[in-house]
Amino acid sequence: MFKIKSFDDCVFELSKLPGIGKKTAMRLALYLLNKDLPDIERLSNTLVNLKKNTRICKKCFGISESDICAICADTGRNNDTICVVEEPKDVFIIEASGRYDGLYHVLGGKIAPLDDIGPDKLRINELIKRVESENINEIIIATNPDIEGETTAIYIKKRLSHINKLLITRIASGIPIGSHLEYADEVTILKSIENRREMR
Ligand SMILES: [Zn+2]
Repeated sequence: MFKIKSFDDCVFELSKLPGIGKKTAMRLALYLLNKDLPDIERLSNTLVNLKKNTRICKKCFGISESDICAICADTGRNNDTICVVEEPKDVFIIEASGRYDGLYHVLGGKIAPLDDIGPDKLRINELIKRVESENINEIIIATNPDIEGETTAIYIKKRLSHINKLLITRIASGIPIGSHLEYADEVTILKSIENRREMR
């Protein structure tokens, strides 16, 4: 069988990426093969830098290039509102809408007993501490509108019930039940935040 080790290695690595099958990996490898070396070096450096230069923000647990992310450090933002999301990618999605100007808190998942993910595995205690120590007026819970997302929202609401004068809201499920933030367009996300309701 016809084999070129460096080509095969590249195809193998590319095919590990989500949504990339072997055929697509081969097409990409052939495409890269036709590029000039500086282009390839730039691509490979970008990937290495992505990993080397990013970390988790110590405050909101979103992706950051410093200990405290640009959103947490931005004094122009509305720092009395925290939007609670499941994953760092949700921050990107909401930010892309360009209309939310509060802060975030990334939980790192959602309560899912079947996957052995209890509240202790999420950054819920860190959220409570933030709300207790910062001057927060509103918590917008933007976990996905599926069973685990709802369970997580209800749990967080309970855990925050001791804090006086804190408004706890839930994004409107204009997003069809069972779908996820990542599939919703920016307008839908914007509407679901604008039409949020107080959790009672
Ligand atoms: Zn942050």
